[in-house]
Amino acid sequence: MVTRARRVVVVGGGIAGLAVAYRLTRPEGNGLPLEVTLVEASERLGGKLSSSRVGGFDLEAGADSFVVRKPEAVDLCRELGLEEDLVVPASSTAFVRIGDRLVPFPRRSSFGVPAGPSELLRWPGLSLRGRLRAFGDLLRPRSQKHGDEPLAALLERRLGKEAAHVLVGPLLAGIHAGDAARLSVQATFPELSAWEREHGSLVRGAGAARRKADAERAAPLFASVWGGLGRLVDELTGAIGPPRIRAGERVSRIGREALGFTLDVGTGSVGADAVVLATPAFEASRLLREVNSEASRELGTIRYTSTAVVLLVYPEGTGERLPAATGYVVPASSSVTTACTWVSRKWPREEFGDRAVVRCYVGRSGSEESLALPDNEIVARVRAELDRVLSLGPPEDSAVVRWERSMPQYDVGHLDRVRRMDEALESTPGLFVAGSAYRGVGIADCVRDGSSAAGRVRRYLLDARPAGAVVPGAGASSEERERTR
Ligand SMILES: Cc1cc2nc3c(=O)[nH]c(=O)nc-3n(C[C@H](O)[C@H](O)[C@H](O)COP(=O)(O)OP(=O)(O)OC[C@H]3O[C@@H](n4cnc5c(N)ncnc54)[C@H](O)[C@@H]3O)c2cc1C
Repeated sequence: MVTRARRVVVVGGGIAGLAVAYRLTRPEGNGLPLEVTLVEASERLGGKLSSSRVGGFDLEAGADSFVVRKPEAVDLCRELGLEEDLVVPASSTAFVRIGDRLVPFPRRSSFGVPAGPSELLRWPGLSLRGRLRAFGDLLRPRSQKHGDEPLAALLERRLGKEAAHVLVGPLLAGIHAGDAARLSVQATFPELSAWEREHGSLVRGAGAARRKADAERAAPLFASVWGGLGRLVDELTGAIGPPRIRAGERVSRIGREALGFTLDVGTGSVGADAVVLATPAFEASRLLREVNSEASRELGTIRYTSTAVVLLVYPEGTGERLPAATGYVVPASSSVTTACTWVSRKWPREEFGDRAVVRCYVGRSGSEESLALPDNEIVARVRAELDRVLSLGPPEDSAVVRWERSMPQYDVGHLDRVRRMDEALESTPGLFVAGSAYRGVGIADCVRDGSSAAGRVRRYLLDARPAGAVVPGAGASSEERERTR
């Protein structure tokens, strides 16, 4: 008896859903025939990997790079033949904007934490009192408490309020467009609590992390693809195979059938033996309502923050006004801008000529009011803030790209929430979730989560194979099965 192909539907064509579909369409050797369909609501694949044309240039409007420390995105690029096209930022220096001053991050630091007492005491961004309080990190006993806590609580306990607010918080919370008072240490930067536990101090922990990176001659922190991350999306799309992709069609409902699931897609319906939801958590929550109310409830409690990216292209002759660095972050304040990337410095291109090309981020958890403003008002405010530190004058062209409910917030207790969700999903075999809402917001995290979901789908379908079915080429099945774990 030959097994019929198992139908897998992946819902959502962001980087996580693309990674799931890509892995499922690779020949795995266990011979289980799969019929994979990727359904994406938008006409465009890639989700938050997206570009906009501004001033005649295609500029990243969502993510602009991925971390190298987590190898999954780099490895995927290599696998897709993009290795030669990997590029790294032209600079690794970054600033903190304190009032109208740009202060470079300490020369040696890790996650923004100065990597030694002299780095800390010399850092001019803190008042003398702030520096002395932060120095107390080297003397204070480690916390005896275990378990999760807000990022701000850990940083303030170790380094004091000023350093937490001005130096470390903006960088770490900024990655999540988050509020350090609510973000979970364990779900975002568990390294920090490990530093406290193992070294009794964040400054000593940062020093050890830097020494380790130096000894390993660590690669640059970030990388991207020459020509933009859209090329990664294109390569994935090509490898999955366009006939398997239904773009511009939204899944509106998922129902349970005796032997699987039915999905309402556009005006029709599609049957599936397994479904992977790679949508934002609030959409996964909605789709799960009928089939697993408990998982739906857990997913529905993951908060999202809206953000916007403002892209600005300045006239020829402005490029030199940007310092040779990647940009700056802004401590939580009344400022509209939360961070700024100097695109023409970080990712220089010949076509920019001598133009300054800048992208600013607007909106973070706890301060999303500025997003209610019309585009022209957002641009005017961002420009005014930029001019106070850089005097760039009026841009030639600009655009506001809004990302509504785009950044999942890993609030304290997030890991427990994800565990409860996983447990709840066990009662609906064949249903899986993947994406930025669960085990990391970065591209590399999403690729890892997508690949892991694909492994679980294969395992499930192999285990759920009808008794007596013979899968061609499945001779070494236990070994093969191990490989998909
Ligand atoms: C402005 C910005 C800058 C960022 N910068 C970086 C960076 O530099 N580096 C980095 O590593 N990360 C960055 N991130 C984070 C990272 O880009 C995202 O976390 C990641 O791309 C999310 O991928 P995803 O596949 O989980 O979700 P998404 O990209 O949100 O994809 C989900 C997809 O599901 C689709 N969908 C939703 N509902 C349905 C439905 N019912 N039916 C069918 N399809 C549906 C959506 O249309 C969407 O395409 C940034 C994020 C933002 C917003």
